[in-house]
Amino acid sequence: MEKTILKEWDDGDIISKSINANKGAELFRFIEGPPTANGSPGVHHVYARVIKDLFLRYKSMKGYYVPRVSGWDCHGLPVEISVEKELQFEDKAGIEKYGIERFNNICRSSVFSHIDEWAEVTKRVGFFIDLTKPYTTMDLHYIESVWWSLKRLWERDLIYEGHYVVPYCPRCGTALSTHEVAQGYETITEEAAFVKFPLSDQRETYFLAWTTTPWTLLSNVALAVNPNILYVKVKVKNQFLIFAKELLQTVLSDELHFTIVAEFQGNELNGTRYVPLFGDRQPTVVLAEFVSTAEGTGIVHIAPAFGEDDFNVAKAEGLPLVQLVKPDGRFDAHLPLVGGLFFTDANAVIMKSLASRGLLHKREMYEHSYPFCWRCEAPLMYYARRAWFIRMSSLREALVRNNEMVQWHPKTVKHGRFGNFIENARDWALSRERYWGTPLPIWKCRNNHVVFIGSIDELKQRIGDDATLSDIHKPYIDRIVFPCDECAEIMHRIPDVIDCWYDSGCAPFASLHYPFERSDDFKLPVDFIAEGVDQTRGWFYSLHAIASAVFGSNAYSTVISLGHIVDEQGRKMSKSKGNTVDPWQILNNEGADSLRWYLFSSGNPGTPKRFYEDAIIESQRKTISTLWHILSFFTTYAEIDRYDVTWQLADEHRNVIDRWLLSRLNGLVSDVVEYLDRYDYYLATLAIDSFIGELSNWFVRTSRRRFWKNEKDLDKISAYVSLFETLWTLSTLIAPFVPFISEYMHKTLARYAPEARESVHLETYPALRPDRLLPEAERDMDYAKRIVEAGRVARSSAHIKTRQPLTRIICVGPELESTELQTIIKNELNVKAIDFEKGDDKFIEYEIGLKFASVGPKYKDLAPKIKQVLSTLTPQAVLEKMNDGIEFEIGQTPISLSKDDLTVSEKVRGGFIKSEDSGLVVFLDTEITAELRKESLAREVVRRIQVMRKELDLPYAAQIRVGYQGPAEVSQAIRTFNAYLKDETLSKSVVKGDLKNARLRKEWMIDGRRVVISIAE
Ligand SMILES: [Zn+2]
Ligand SMILES: [Zn+2]
Repeated sequence: MEKTILKEWDDGDIISKSINANKGAELFRFIEGPPTANGSPGVHHVYARVIKDLFLRYKSMKGYYVPRVSGWDCHGLPVEISVEKELQFEDKAGIEKYGIERFNNICRSSVFSHIDEWAEVTKRVGFFIDLTKPYTTMDLHYIESVWWSLKRLWERDLIYEGHYVVPYCPRCGTALSTHEVAQGYETITEEAAFVKFPLSDQRETYFLAWTTTPWTLLSNVALAVNPNILYVKVKVKNQFLIFAKELLQTVLSDELHFTIVAEFQGNELNGTRYVPLFGDRQPTVVLAEFVSTAEGTGIVHIAPAFGEDDFNVAKAEGLPLVQLVKPDGRFDAHLPLVGGLFFTDANAVIMKSLASRGLLHKREMYEHSYPFCWRCEAPLMYYARRAWFIRMSSLREALVRNNEMVQWHPKTVKHGRFGNFIENARDWALSRERYWGTPLPIWKCRNNHVVFIGSIDELKQRIGDDATLSDIHKPYIDRIVFPCDECAEIMHRIPDVIDCWYDSGCAPFASLHYPFERSDDFKLPVDFIAEGVDQTRGWFYSLHAIASAVFGSNAYSTVISLGHIVDEQGRKMSKSKGNTVDPWQILNNEGADSLRWYLFSSGNPGTPKRFYEDAIIESQRKTISTLWHILSFFTTYAEIDRYDVTWQLADEHRNVIDRWLLSRLNGLVSDVVEYLDRYDYYLATLAIDSFIGELSNWFVRTSRRRFWKNEKDLDKISAYVSLFETLWTLSTLIAPFVPFISEYMHKTLARYAPEARESVHLETYPALRPDRLLPEAERDMDYAKRIVEAGRVARSSAHIKTRQPLTRIICVGPELESTELQTIIKNELNVKAIDFEKGDDKFIEYEIGLKFASVGPKYKDLAPKIKQVLSTLTPQAVLEKMNDGIEFEIGQTPISLSKDDLTVSEKVRGGFIKSEDSGLVVFLDTEITAELRKESLAREVVRRIQVMRKELDLPYAAQIRVGYQGPAEVSQAIRTFNAYLKDETLSKSVVKGDLKNARLRKEWMIDGRRVVISIAE
């Protein structure tokens, strides 16, 4: 069915008709978060795509003009790394040797290596988006807009070059921005060392410092102490250790005997000289406020090239920047001990060397979170590098202020995961020492004069008007040089490219080539975006940061951040664990609607989503199949009865159950619209699911007979028009959620709807018809349903099967006036009558007893007499007085009985079963008369005939003849209920004996009686 509909959408060009609908109407702005199409789309991509589709379809059906353009993220490390892997390069030297031009050409063509797969899955899940004119971040115009924005930042002094310690991936050979680092933390356990630094002028005396990165010890230039912390000198065995007093217990946890020999403030240690562990420097102790006693020893070893605090201390103290590790993460080859080793591999060698020289106080295992490259998984190092930055730290206030304008789903992200991040926003390390990316548009001369280029025209003016600039990627852009305005020296471009997160963060304007074109179409904020939670500090941040920095605005009004997809056990999905689910498996087996409905209806966006095939099968069974069955029920009978558009009936002439249905439907419409308007799709699905359940389990089931009627009376018309209107509205209401079955419903029902448009997706979204809301009808129906519910419980606790008719049910409560609802109750419970009573006293007998434990001590010997007096009162009289106390005299003794002195037991009168459903009490009369037994037998026979009809696969309207053989009771029952039997089974005759030309003959056991039934046409 879905595939047929996909073809019809193609043939009818429905996608572009839907997108172009409402052109000129109010705009609903959306930006597609551009995926990188160099890998296969997974379930989490499908998840984001269908959530976007839901709201874009909804807004479009609500009358907005909703342009939907796809986009692709083309630049950056994700692409470069996959090409590097393909070409089997170890590091950047491999790329340089291969040639940047060739390398970038391969990057360019690999960008779209999986684009067909993306297009296919996008179409298959029913995402209405224009795939024909995507924006791409490598497009010349896109890059030009990015340049323009950078120049605006430059002009506002928000871009600067600095040497700073940055998180750095040695494998990728480039710095990462803090929001990239934030994505790659993992908890690891490593060996931490308590290292001894010998004092220069005191024998056997050591400063104790603690480090988790022994490899940085080679670059140690100082030890830092806090001037305000108290330190101790402790004698342990025959040596002296110096560290913070507060940490005595942890540092000396292994020592049985030690003596404190001196105490001093940190500032007294300032300038103390110590012997370097490696090399021949002359290091000293310096003071630094950041040193704490939270962990370690209160003395911090300083390696300025490898830590931000270290770097700042070194800058303040004028210490040298010793950088023994090269940008590829390896130690300089000429170094003893560690020459050529990768930095993390050096830890073991260094520990061994320290231990052999007696410079290791102790080691311990230490669990902490450590950053890894989000792309290549190499451990990052903090590394002093030259880099270009955006001064985000100066924009914190704006970031926070603009975030207040954003509606986050889930709400907690706003001031949680996202809010915390922007409050502490760090400067954005923008430049990347890489190849395939938007070139940083900065040219410099040897005298450090800088030109910042903000457009292609500007660049052309620098090099002459006739230049053609069709590709401004590396290496071509690096060939462009021009003379400096100030000193006439040649200006060369800075070789860096920029962080690809900056590219995608420019999408709201760069996708339009703003401000060079289409400035009328551009406006911030866009109305809506949605992506996975991993984009919170990724794309959501870069959009927000750039909009705040360039336009002083928030980038989006509403954002949905979708939780992780996890497997059935709640584990994160990953290829290496082998627990991923291929979206195609689900699409092929259960279909797109079931997949979509599951994703919408299985929880709020914030919660991780368990994803496994059985869950989707269940979603199909519960919702999609139920809808399908209701629709086919309607169409089957509509065909038999030749239902058409001339069947009309004003609301006030309709059956109360139909008016109830339309009232419920309109309540649903109103709820769903309200929920979708506030992006609460989960609540909308709950409302829809419960409506579909009621439509199937209540309306269709209780109204089935009304469609079976032969004559075309008002009630039958009422049932038809009401069910049709319901299905028609429902098809439109659910269209944004499940675009396929809704389209199928629409097409199936369109023949009865002269106003139908070509596709359900071109219809207007249903609106509430307040005149149809009937709170009283809904209240009455709820009452009726509760009676039925309580009655069913009574029946089952009496062990009386449903097919056995009973005399009556008594309901303690107000009278239900509608005879139609009474009929429903009677049919549902298979009782002949329903009575309403104000109280239950007719059906309950009370017995009052005396609590001897309480009366005995008070009245002693009188207790038996009290019992006697009590038994002369009616239980009702006692019950009425019980709360106020019962008083009488025995002889001269006044007796006063309270509630606590009495026991009350209640007993339901014989022949009745009591049942209670949230405060509603019913009594079922369980007496089975001979007449009722006969009727039950007749019903049993009906059911057998119906089973046989089904077995013969007879058309719904086919008439049959029935013959039967069985004991006298059965014959009597069939004779008495002959008309009923014929009616129920569409039989022309039901006669005793065997039919000679029977098409089917079967022997049945009915309540222990052997009955043979034969059927002929
Ligand atoms: Zn890396
Ligand atoms: Zn110059």
